[in-house]
Amino acid sequence: RTPVPSDIAIAGEHAPKPIAQLARELNLAAGEYAAYGAHAAKVSLDVLARLQGGGPEGGRGRYVVVTGMSPTPLGEGKSTVTVGLAQALYAHAQRPTFACIRQPSQGPTFGIKGGAAGGGYAQVTPMTTMNLHLTGDIHAITAATNLVAAAVDARCFHEATQTDAQLFARLCPAKHGVRRMAAPLVRRLQRLGVGEAAVAAGDASLLAAEHVARLVRLDIDPERITWRRVLDTNDRFLREITVGQAPSERGMQRRTGFDIAVASEIMAVLALTTSLADMRARLGRMVVALSRAGEPVTCDDVGVTGALAALMKDALSPTLMQTLEGSPVFVHAGPFANIAHGNSSVVADQIALRLVGPQGFVVTEAGFGADIGFEKFANIKCRASGLAPDAAVIVATVRAIKMHGGGPAVVPGRPLPEAYTQEGLALVSQGFANVRRHIANVRSLGVPAIVAINAFATDSPAELEMVRSLALEAGAADAVVTQLYAQGGAGATDLAAAVARTCDTPSDPPFHFLYDTDLPIKDKISAIACQFYGAGSISYSAEADEKIAQFERNGWDALPVCMAKTQYSFSADPELKGAPEGFDLHIRDIRASLGAGFVYPLCGAMQTLPGLPTRPCFYDIDVDPESGEICGLF
Ligand code: ADP
Repeated sequence: RTPVPSDIAIAGEHAPKPIAQLARELNLAAGEYAAYGAHAAKVSLDVLARLQGGGPEGGRGRYVVVTGMSPTPLGEGKSTVTVGLAQALYAHAQRPTFACIRQPSQGPTFGIKGGAAGGGYAQVTPMTTMNLHLTGDIHAITAATNLVAAAVDARCFHEATQTDAQLFARLCPAKHGVRRMAAPLVRRLQRLGVGEAAVAAGDASLLAAEHVARLVRLDIDPERITWRRVLDTNDRFLREITVGQAPSERGMQRRTGFDIAVASEIMAVLALTTSLADMRARLGRMVVALSRAGEPVTCDDVGVTGALAALMKDALSPTLMQTLEGSPVFVHAGPFANIAHGNSSVVADQIALRLVGPQGFVVTEAGFGADIGFEKFANIKCRASGLAPDAAVIVATVRAIKMHGGGPAVVPGRPLPEAYTQEGLALVSQGFANVRRHIANVRSLGVPAIVAINAFATDSPAELEMVRSLALEAGAADAVVTQLYAQGGAGATDLAAAVARTCDTPSDPPFHFLYDTDLPIKDKISAIACQFYGAGSISYSAEADEKIAQFERNGWDALPVCMAKTQYSFSADPELKGAPEGFDLHIRDIRASLGAGFVYPLCGAMQTLPGLPTRPCFYDIDVDPESGEICGLF
């Protein structure tokens, strides 16, 4: 239909099938899923155990990652292409197919960019369920993260206000003459390598006096607490706050702040973990602070790991939903790609790859452009999962290409300038440099790149054809104009065919990582910055330098690197468009996420808690008081 109705109007006209029917189509046993309402279900990791083994690589399907060029602030349709391609493969090419996407954060949903269920006739449905709360995973992450924060501050308070003897009596109360130790205390002594007899008997009264002090005092340096609280709202006034101002906290004030929940380490853990045991171990390894002696203090030390695992247990199961054309979708985890690693979960991809079997496809999405989302997909997510992609789809739009070619700024909520609504072949030819660099980057890791041109009603046939031929010239395995926004899967049958063809051709060289984790931290940063971004040099703040040396002393250097960088440019300057070269990439700070398993350099002025614009999306959102239907969600 022209014009294409709004996303919510299209979704409202569609009746999704009952979740039990979808589960039956996937041959899920009754105990393998738990319905959340009529159209969503949590799928247990038991499915993975049931389907493991047999056939080449256990009989898994083709693994296709959808990435993109450097976007405009409007988004170039990566979620839309992910969903539309899955619809085309499933409903038109008749191949078993799963789409795996991230859970939308309420930050963009109520703020600037809108939801993340796709768009037009390529959507996950019901989009209101998906965009609001869903099965509560982000709430669980928020609860778990804030429990750690509360535990750390409370521990500092109790240690500051009690003697060793008082702390000991409370942590290990004498009962029947024996001071039984809770499991976290036993584990702490094991890590410290002291009090073997007490550990063996679980009896704190067997501890020597010097070990009692080490057991009861974490001696956290309040100035070096790195753990921050989170919420899933763009609440800019919480970026920097002072806690502990009530008289009851006896002057233990401290400056800290909030991040958005989807940028939290627990979100990264959820996305990268492979099992409940692995998730628990990762949660325990998360570093929350340094002690006054400079030793890292972990969640295990604070004794909160088991409680975190309990809070996160249900979140570990991916949420099953469906597209407008009835194909299955996993929605699971939702880290942003600029300030986090930007990919949906490893377990969702693994379960989906088994469920579709060797004839099928899993289409998974990596956030923002290929410089960040795909780079982290390859070097962080695939390293954690052991999976290798068979192909990458790079989503490009005429409007983003024109912007990289020197077109005026694209501002959400304002009409597009004329350059974007009228034919402009010179801008297209100039701006294509951005796509060309992404194609080369993807191919450099041994992944064939297919360019999906997401067509907008204002694009001219000559512009679309120019992008297609430039993409082929640039080494894309294929380049296809798609109409999936306007037509759903029917508008992406050529893309589906190109993907199937490409997946059937073994890549030479095969998939490989950009860097070895054994390299020193600065060499890994350099591989990403120079080979993927096009930087000529890298500079470090004194703080970053000092921390890198500290990480190396702590033995935290053999981890992959998760760059925090703007999505709008290959550089850290969002205004530097196209394919800039030879610039200096400045690393202003670096953090370590030991649970997620990466170090995390910060380039440029990245906000870890976005703010609300003057005219936020929440202006339009409401509930019809008669029908109870939600309206105004895009
Ligand atoms: P991304 O995942 O790249 O951020 P989305 O798929 O979420 O982008 O799309 C961003 C917005 O653009 C959505 O509201 C979607 O409905 C809209 N959109 C996507 N493709 C098109 C298109 N071809 N024509 C018009 N609007 C589109």
